[in-house]
This record gives sequence, C-alpha cells and structure tokens, in this order.
Amino acid sequence: AQTKDKNYWVQLAESVTIPVDNIIDGKPVQASSGKTFTCISPIDGRVLAEIPSCSQADADAAVESARKAFDSGVWSQTAPVKRKKVLIKFADLILQHADELAILETLDMGKPIGDSTAIDIPATANCIRWNAEAIDKVYDEVAPTHPNELGLVTREPLGVVAAIVPWNFPLIMAAWKLGPALATGNSVVLKPSEKSPLTALRIGQLALDAGIPAGVLNVIAGFGKDAGEPLAKHMDVDGLVFTGSTAVGKHLLSLGATSNMKRTFVECGGKSPNIVFPDAPDLKAAAKAAAVGIFFNQGEVCTAGSRLLVHNAIKKEFIAEVVEAAKSLQPGHPLDPDTSMGAIVDQQQMSRVLGYVDKGTADGATIVAGGKQAMSESGGFYIEPTIFDDVTNQMTIAQEEIFGPVLSCIGFDSEEEAIAIANDTDYGLAAAIWTSDLARAHRVSRKVRAGSVWVNYYDAGDMTAPFGGFKQSGNGRDKSLHALEKYTELKATWMNL
Ligand code: NAD
Repeated sequence: AQTKDKNYWVQLAESVTIPVDNIIDGKPVQASSGKTFTCISPIDGRVLAEIPSCSQADADAAVESARKAFDSGVWSQTAPVKRKKVLIKFADLILQHADELAILETLDMGKPIGDSTAIDIPATANCIRWNAEAIDKVYDEVAPTHPNELGLVTREPLGVVAAIVPWNFPLIMAAWKLGPALATGNSVVLKPSEKSPLTALRIGQLALDAGIPAGVLNVIAGFGKDAGEPLAKHMDVDGLVFTGSTAVGKHLLSLGATSNMKRTFVECGGKSPNIVFPDAPDLKAAAKAAAVGIFFNQGEVCTAGSRLLVHNAIKKEFIAEVVEAAKSLQPGHPLDPDTSMGAIVDQQQMSRVLGYVDKGTADGATIVAGGKQAMSESGGFYIEPTIFDDVTNQMTIAQEEIFGPVLSCIGFDSEEEAIAIANDTDYGLAAAIWTSDLARAHRVSRKVRAGSVWVNYYDAGDMTAPFGGFKQSGNGRDKSLHALEKYTELKATWMNL
C-alpha cells in the first residue's frame, strides 16, 4: 500500500482536478451571468479556481429542474428500497473518491488532511448510508379510530428543498441535509458556502454517477445574497434547511415566512460551556479534552467548547494543564498528516478572530497562551491556539461566537453559579459537564439549556441521536430518525368503509 505522507498529498494537490461546474438538471453548467468568484486556498493564499457565481436566474433554473423531477415521480414516487439502493451507491462512490474529496476539502477550507480523511469523508458517506438504510424501515401509522373507518397517518416528502450550508464542515453539513432529504423522496437544490464550494460541486457529479436522476440534486455555488436569497424567497421551494450563523438564520426564517410559508429549519451558532467540577474523574484528561474541544477544526466548530467554566478551587492548575495540552495543537501545514491544527478559512475570518483577541485584551482578560497570527511566511491564514484567563461572562469574548481558536476561561464557586453562567447566553447548542457525582451530572445536565450535553467527554455523537440547538442556536434537528420529520409533511387520510 502507498504511504500517504505529506509528499503524497502535496502531489495530489498539484494533480487533482478542481471541480468548477454547477450541476443543474443533471448537467454541468456555468453561471448564466458569466460571472465567477475566485476560490483561494487558505493554506498558502494560492488561487485554486474561478467558480461560476450563481444568481437569481440560476437559482430559478435549479428550482424549476427540481420541481420537474419531483412532479415526474422519478424519485419521489419510487419505493424507499429503490432510493436506498441508489443512495448506498452514492455513499460508496464518496468513499471510492475519498482521497480526491479529502484533498479538495483541505485545499478549500484549510483543515488538516488527517481530519479530512479520518472524519469528514467517512462521516459524509456514513450519513448518506445511514439515512438510506433507515428509509425502508420507517412505518406509517393507522389511527385508532372507529372500525367502520380507516385513518391513515402517512409522511410525504415536502417537495423541493433548498439546502444552504456553511464552510466549516462543507461535506458533512451537506450530507446532514442531503441524507434525509433525498431518502424521503424530495428534490434538492444545494447551495454550498462561497468560501468552500468545491466538494459540494464534486458530489453533485457523483450523485449523478450513482444513478440519482437528473434534477433530483442540483448544486449551485455563489454568494448568500446572490444565490441563497432567491432560494429562500422562491415561491416554488417547499422546504428551506440552513446551517450557518444565527444572524443569517433569523433572516432566512423571515424570508421563508413572508414568501410562501415554506417549512424553514435553521441550525445556527453556539457559545458552548464546558463545566469542570473539582471531582472530575480525571482532571488531566478533562484538560486535554477542553483543549481539543475548542481547538479542533481551528475552533471553527458550532459546538466548540469556547467557554471553559472551572471551579475556582482548581482553576489555576487546570488552566495550566489546558495551556500544556494546547502546545501539541499548534498550527502546521494542512497537507502534513501529523498536523492537528490547520489554516483559518480565509483572510477575512482570520482578521475577525484576531479582532476578538484584541477586544478580549482591551476588556481586561489575560492572554495565557497564543494570541497571534502564525506561519505568516506561508502566505496562508493561521492563528495560534489562544487562551484567555480572567474572563467574565459579560465580556464580548464570552458572549459572541468567535468561530476560531480562542478559549475564554471563567471561574465559579458553586453548582448554581456554574449553571447560571452556562445559561447566560443567547445560544443553546451544546454543553459538557465533568464530575464523578452521578446526581450532580443528572442535575446539571437537566438544567443546562442545550441541545447536546456531554458528561465526562466532549463532542461525542453519531447518527443515532438528534443534533441541534435550544434558543438562538436553531429550531430544528439534524441526524437520527427525528431529522426525517422535517423533510416530510404529515397527512391524515380518512376512509369511510
Ligand atoms: P453564514 O451564515 O455566513 O453562511 C452560511 C450559508 O448561508 C452560506 O452558504 C452563505 O453563503 C449563506 N448565506 C449568507 N447570507 C445569506 C443570505 N442573505 N441569504 C441566503 N443565504 C445566505 O455562516 P458561515 O460563516 O458559513 O458558518 C459559520 C456559522 O455556522 C457559525 O455560526 C456556526 O456556529 C454555524 N454552524 C452551525 C452548525 C449547527 O449544526 N448548528 C454547524 C456548523 C456551523
């Protein structure tokens, strides 16, 4: 077997074909305006490609194609077991193209190649496969009504679904939408982020190769205002599913409501508390997990443990352990398989994150690790893992989602205080609790207002449990059988027997 060392990936980066075509109605197409946008690699600032930049006319064409495919029944009216077979082929093709997709993901958004290969590509295929495997095992219902009548309770696909996704896990976020949307029989228009469009464009082609009929999956690249808003406002889109920032999520909820009341589900940001009690089973392990919990994927994770709440009795020693753990998470070349932290997605995001570092210092917090741009000689965008002590929960760095490698450490003296600080946020995506006290684990996990709570680890999760947020972290759930609900309408059919 070939050794997949840095050399292998550097060579693949040179030889890989950069996908630039949108997919509409089963065909590779350019943007109708002829406009493009420049796709830059955050690894070294290199231009990767000019990508056709879609706008209203392209969104309209994609929706028209999706509608035609839906109404034809070529996908929507097939037996679930048939859709299952095609989707499993789609998942297989993703795995067969694993190296190609991994290099595109890393070149496009800067994450370490080790993460792309071990996490992003397998999780994408797994999500498609899981939904495919599930769909012929979901039964409808018969209502417990009078024997002289029959009440059927069935789920039917929404119709045309627009999926708008972010750049931090471009493929996984697309798969969380595509898996359940396609399995339930919808037609989809996928709009990836303008910061990371490459892998979505590539899997649009792979879906066709797998036998997903033309028009059932369209992929249009472009900016939110140009390509996303026309989908959100469209009168012939039945469902809008979004993952991204809370500000854009709120805007899309209003567009969905004021256009045609399309079913709109948004999965948004987070400011997750990671709460460490002195009786944590293994404080060293907790400190390591706290570092990975914020610095994984360069901190560009919706569930990042960005607020570390530590009991004041152990705070000083614990933060010293986190600083120690962060030393092995320094940025490195993303094509080196040994690198654990890669590049920030683009210059704009790097400046935004460094702006928060300045704001934290100005507000009186103390930098105990990092705080600066790194590897600037590369031409790429890197930031040191950064840790602030002496943070109060009112500070901007504790309230706003930074979406970068910046940890805010906050002390507490009692369980009640920890819960109050944890919940003192607009967000409610995730939380973690470290304690050996079973009763406390139950008490605190029930009182923390978050969609996912982890006890004595961080960032656990697979396809079996729903994922989503309380409060302004969103209004829907991805993953698990619960996700299928948002892609379907519930119908009651009454029969007079
Ligand atoms: P973003 O909101 O800027 O963009 C997300 C997507 O929306 C992109 O495709 C963008 O082009 C599009 N968009 C932007 N403005 C639009 C508009 N006016 N109309 C239609 N579409 C528009 O978010 P981002 O910077 O790409 O991603 C980071 C955010 O995503 C963070 O807040 C993060 O927490 C969140 N996120 C949430 C989850 C979750 O499951 N809850 C998962 C990953 C990321």
